[in-house]
Amino acid sequence: MQLIDGKKTAATIREQIAVDVKELLNKGGKAPHLVAVIVGNDGASHTYVNGKIKACELAGFKSGLVQFDADVTEEKLLQTVKELNEDDEVDGFIVQLPLPDHIDEKKVTEAINPDKDVDGFHPTNIGRMVLGLPTFLPATPFGILQLLEHYNIETSGKHCVVVGRSHIVGTPMTLLMSRKGNPGNCTVTMAHSRTKDLKEETLRADILIAALGKPGFITKDMVKEGAVVIDVGTTRVADATKKRGYAVKGDVLFDEVAEKCSFITPVPGGVGPMTIVSLLKNTLISAQRRQGLES
Ligand code: NAP
Repeated sequence: MQLIDGKKTAATIREQIAVDVKELLNKGGKAPHLVAVIVGNDGASHTYVNGKIKACELAGFKSGLVQFDADVTEEKLLQTVKELNEDDEVDGFIVQLPLPDHIDEKKVTEAINPDKDVDGFHPTNIGRMVLGLPTFLPATPFGILQLLEHYNIETSGKHCVVVGRSHIVGTPMTLLMSRKGNPGNCTVTMAHSRTKDLKEETLRADILIAALGKPGFITKDMVKEGAVVIDVGTTRVADATKKRGYAVKGDVLFDEVAEKCSFITPVPGGVGPMTIVSLLKNTLISAQRRQGLES
């Protein structure tokens, strides 16, 4: 079994991004500028956003943070989106999800200029992804593709099973693994909570991508010998032995599943760091395009 080290891979890719930023500056351009908008005090959301800002600094980006209390009006948030769309200094921005119930996430996502939508959630960018046109790929699936590429994992002709069909992970992942290309060219099964016999499906997977948000759900008996297992799940589970009072758990019962795999991602340190670095990659592409300085 080989461990897929997302932390190390992300650091390598981030170093290359930092080199590309220097090249952009040498050509007379400006450093990429990413802004994160966050609403409320959800601990996990703040952790993700802080991680994104820190990664920006390490890669030589300019970064900004717009913070609102949980009771901010939808109108005020949409006004901020409009201002960021119009701000020439900003290459890309994200509105950290989830948003409070009184705000329509769909409305906010659709208000973002697709050219600055570095999360790749806007319908225009999803449509471009489906058609195989240049676009911003959603950060988590994009990160997984880069991991597969980095570890030279053959995907062509393989059977890939994706568990989960969310708009941000499962659905784009399914599309990307089935597209013509490398990584890609898989025959893909998308499973979800209404799948009749999940184990029967997962046992057929050469590549199993778990994105359910249910800690330890994928057990040894559900995995084929020699499978590649990618664990997207990140759920906070109370753990009094940890300083923070919780541990982050994946959807795969790592200790028992690992022994059956050819490759497996850990949690933490697998897909998570790749999501952040993919966001930086999208922002770099946006900055290069906007300045007419594509490499
Ligand atoms: P989500 O929107 O809650 O979607 C979960 C999906 O899993 C749904 O499609 C659901 O099916 C399916 N599901 C739930 N229970 C199931 C079961 N018993 N059997 C089969 N399918 C089941 O979650 P998400 O946003 O995709 O996130 C999934 C996990 O990935 C979470 O732990 C999240 O924190 C994590 N995540 C990590 C990163 C990262 O960077 N590492 C990024 C994004 C998300 P239905 O559609 O039928 O309800």
